[in-house]
Amino acid sequence: MIDPTTDATGLLTQIARGVVALSAHSDRGGPTPPPYPQETQSALDQLVLWALRENRTPPAGVPDLVFLCTGRTLAQWAAMGIGGIAEPTQCLVHKVARAPTRACMEITGQAEFADRLFASAVAELDVADVVRARSFLQSNVMMSNTGHLDLMNHDPRSITVAKAVRHLYEPVPTRLISAGEIALCPTCRLPALSAELPEHGTIWCEAEVCPRDKPVTDSPRAADVLLLHRALRLFLVLPGLVEQSCLERLRDAGTPLSQLATGTYAGRLDGTDGVVRFYDRTCATLLAGQVVRDRVTVAVVPANTLDYGFRRAFENSLPDDTEISLLSDEELVLRNNTKEKADAQR
Ligand SMILES: [Zn+2]
Repeated sequence: MIDPTTDATGLLTQIARGVVALSAHSDRGGPTPPPYPQETQSALDQLVLWALRENRTPPAGVPDLVFLCTGRTLAQWAAMGIGGIAEPTQCLVHKVARAPTRACMEITGQAEFADRLFASAVAELDVADVVRARSFLQSNVMMSNTGHLDLMNHDPRSITVAKAVRHLYEPVPTRLISAGEIALCPTCRLPALSAELPEHGTIWCEAEVCPRDKPVTDSPRAADVLLLHRALRLFLVLPGLVEQSCLERLRDAGTPLSQLATGTYAGRLDGTDGVVRFYDRTCATLLAGQVVRDRVTVAVVPANTLDYGFRRAFENSLPDDTEISLLSDEELVLRNNTKEKADAQR
């Protein structure tokens, strides 16, 4: 059914949802379509309707829609009047992985979904166990089929945590399995696709930006492991890398951040108390929206994502009356160390 309220801005979200639904259907081992998942069919219908209205050639079917999503960047969609995200390199489907990109996952609101998924999993736990559960998920993108037993042997106090998070792990989808194994990226530790010879590195990983020439050294048998939910891999584990490294560097420098709530920290920057949270995102526009919703005043992202274009898009997307700093992890460490030196000289 066609939703008459869909405008061209919402249309990109609908298309992205269609792509994610199709991928999730196949990851769950669903029968080869057609029929397509309802969200995928609806995305196609909406785009066809839009194309007819705009006197453009409509996609011929879902395979054609996926083909368009693999080749057309967000900026190209925006230039056609769809989506309004001027990101010049990101597409909705990754051409190597043939799966939704990180940008596509961000557009469909999977970051907020990951927050809700985690919050509901730990709702019954006390504060110390919530911290333990978050840290467990961040350091275990996979769990062995007997993972809860491993965890209990490793730390018997963790049984409550293990029970709470066990359902967040799922069987490894076929698209990530090669010769019965799942390759892990040697840099980000997220699922990867190995080059023909693992010693030649990877051709793709979920972080999308890691070096490709490092040999794959870890590839467990897919049947022996369960994989953390994709939304949590991208929006809890991935930012966890920059978070942990930054916290360690600040601790080593003698200027540790203190935890405010799970995942947010109190920091003092340029004489002002701030609420700090770590992110790792591809779409600055969408990040700006989430930072406002999170009531964070200092958003920290990995240095390699924070170029001039990202910063400008982020700042342009903030509401007028907000004072939010966007810093790279390096800038955060540097500013804290500078402050420490200034305090010491006083
Ligand atoms: Zn990687």
